[in-house]
Amino acid sequence: MDFDFDLFVIGGGSGGVRAARVAAAEGKTVGLAEESRMGGTCVIRGCVPKKLMVFASSFGTAADDAGQYGWDITKGDFDWPSFQSRLHGELDRLEGVYQSLLKNSGVEMFHSRAVLVDKHTVKLGNGVTKTARHILIATGGRPVRPQDVPNAHLGLVSDDIFNLKALPKRMLIIGGGYIACEFACILNGLGVEVEMYLRGAQILNGFDDEARGLVAETMKQSGIVIHTGTNILDMCPAADKDNREAASGTNESMGVAPAHGSGPLWVKTTMGAEAEFDAVFFATGRAPNTNDLGLEDIGVDTGRKGEIVVDDFSKTSVDHIYAIGDVTGRVELTPVAIREGMAFVETVFKDNPTPVDHDLIPTAVFTQPEVGTVGLTEEQAAAQEPIDVYCTSFRPMQGAFIEKADRVLMKLLVSQKTRKVLGCHIVADGAGEMIQMAGIAVKMGATKEDFDRVCAVHPTMSEELVTMKTPVRSA
Ligand code: NDP
Repeated sequence: MDFDFDLFVIGGGSGGVRAARVAAAEGKTVGLAEESRMGGTCVIRGCVPKKLMVFASSFGTAADDAGQYGWDITKGDFDWPSFQSRLHGELDRLEGVYQSLLKNSGVEMFHSRAVLVDKHTVKLGNGVTKTARHILIATGGRPVRPQDVPNAHLGLVSDDIFNLKALPKRMLIIGGGYIACEFACILNGLGVEVEMYLRGAQILNGFDDEARGLVAETMKQSGIVIHTGTNILDMCPAADKDNREAASGTNESMGVAPAHGSGPLWVKTTMGAEAEFDAVFFATGRAPNTNDLGLEDIGVDTGRKGEIVVDDFSKTSVDHIYAIGDVTGRVELTPVAIREGMAFVETVFKDNPTPVDHDLIPTAVFTQPEVGTVGLTEEQAAAQEPIDVYCTSFRPMQGAFIEKADRVLMKLLVSQKTRKVLGCHIVADGAGEMIQMAGIAVKMGATKEDFDRVCAVHPTMSEELVTMKTPVRSA
């Protein structure tokens, strides 16, 4: 049977674009449909604009510190419109780069939604169908608002932050995960008064407890108010709070324009407290983009949260249909989606079945200070086997010089039996850069003694990773 393409990719994010380009480089005919902007979550409304906002927000503290270091600095106000215009210019540039990469690789682009018709056919928004020997679903995910909070549509989600007309004066962030913590630090750094409601006892669920504790402490010291064991119960425009019945609205998580900017919002917490904020930001997790893709009709299995179920080779329950990235609900990280895309091409087009290795993925949370982590947390490692914990927390030179209280953390979890480093956790400015390097050693199976054989780079914070002599405890 003749097909229009060897491969049709639905979704132009990091994973889909990489798979399309690599397949095209193998001489395959490739089509790709994207209904929004090329580049997907990472480039357009995630990692990239977020990191640029991290940079922007760090200059306030840097200016304060510079004064302490002897510079004659006058810190002005942050000009959000000026930064935002430059930010969007950069995103436009990057989108153009993505489009050029695809075009130059020979990938045919369709700026349209595509849905599955059968295992070899997709239908575009204009009704035109395209056939392909293989279909790759890389539609990513989207932020979701809780369904049980009245008027949740009045709140923002992460996609909205980059398009705010003005920064709110007081912001409430719901959630304590990656996105909640990163934006709490960013917005606080830009001068917004930030409070967080998290239903758990600590931020960054799933991370090493000691690391979480230090980040939370530093965030509080920098002015962020963290309410633990607290959730939002109710919200409405402050002007309507005495007339709750009239104000109750829908809880749609998508498709409803948030009414931010139209006056303060009143919120009530599960603890019974009431407060007002200029904006409420739901950072309460993400859902896979699988709605109305035609999956059920052709028998592609999905899981409890709507994620596409795939095997080790990213194959769905239907032959010839594969899925990669956030839509599969495996590990929601850009570099992982890219790896999955490349493994897919190896498997399907290069006759080299390649399972995706999801073990020991280094990752960073771009809080201030950052968290860099690879491998097991202390809690996970100790549950697995007897371990030695090597850990140090100290005031780094740059801050200590100007009497800042901020501390950093360097931590290694070592198997007593094999001496392998099972986990490495860093809380420090630049931890994201450091953990990339430490991740190589941990992935190679380095032992504590391998770390010790490496000469320290002095004076740095990360030299502590190779100079910790005695365990602080065993577990
Ligand atoms: P996370 O899963 O990290 O955090 C979600 C947070 O929302 C948790 O604190 C969770 O609480 C809370 N929550 C969930 N549902 C509710 C609810 N109904 N009411 C109140 N709180 C709720 O999701 P994010 O959206 O922050 O990030 C999604 C993924 O994106 C991350 O897991 C990560 O893989 C990726 N990401 C990576 C980044 C990076 O690499 N730097 C940056 C941003 C995102 P609880 O813990 O109690 O469940």
